[in-house]
Amino acid sequence: MTSIEQNIQKTREQICLSTEKCGRAHGTVELLAVSKTKPILAVEEAIEAGQRAFGENYVQEGVEKIQHFATTPFANELTWHFIGPLQSNKSRLVAENFDWVHTIDRSKIARRLSEQRPSHLPPLNVLIQINTSGEGSKSGINFEELQTLADEVAQLPNLTLRGLMSIPERADDYDSQFKAFSALTEAQQKLLPKHPQLDTLSMGMSGDLDAAVAAGSTMVRIGTAIFGARDYSKQTN
Ligand SMILES: *Cc1c(COP(=O)(O)O)cnc(C)c1O
Repeated sequence: MTSIEQNIQKTREQICLSTEKCGRAHGTVELLAVSKTKPILAVEEAIEAGQRAFGENYVQEGVEKIQHFATTPFANELTWHFIGPLQSNKSRLVAENFDWVHTIDRSKIARRLSEQRPSHLPPLNVLIQINTSGEGSKSGINFEELQTLADEVAQLPNLTLRGLMSIPERADDYDSQFKAFSALTEAQQKLLPKHPQLDTLSMGMSGDLDAAVAAGSTMVRIGTAIFGARDYSKQTN
């Protein structure tokens, strides 16, 4: 077994344990393998280990991987999630290639993605990114802005608003992690009467998996624990 395969198994077991601990059913938390900066070969190993959902942060790099795997037998089973900050001038490539975007933080980018989504593809699944840490982080909107943005995004014809995402400020204790994630879950619940299709909470990484799952996460994003440490020296986009 390769180490990527072992790491994926270990991560899956961790997710199972976390769900068991808080009494949630198995299979309610999806593992997103974050493959940013990692080569095609690493993604291939993950696919061989049964992994199907991948997260990418850099548009060009992600599109290269998507196009590479589009010609392979499992192309239709793979889902590609854009989880990095998105600039307007790169939105077309994202709309044309990815299945999900986790980082919607303004209506302008949402409108562009909807306009640029090719009509032969299903609607792009999107999550609104929330800044749960106040000044600690610059990405994402504040809770007060959520209702308005959610209403706008939900109306766009070629997007499907699926839920919320956040990257809370690093906290080492369970209670603060749980508090930050629970705030996201509560915000989602407030939106549900008007937006009953919301079913996704993208929250939780290696260090805060337990708290995220206990608070209601449906998708955890794990990179280093699967693929090892990243080398950014070759990054160009
Ligand atoms: C890189 C990244 C991850 C994965 O981080 P690791 O520490 O490598 O597990 C998760 N979510 C987002 C948004 C990321 O950018």
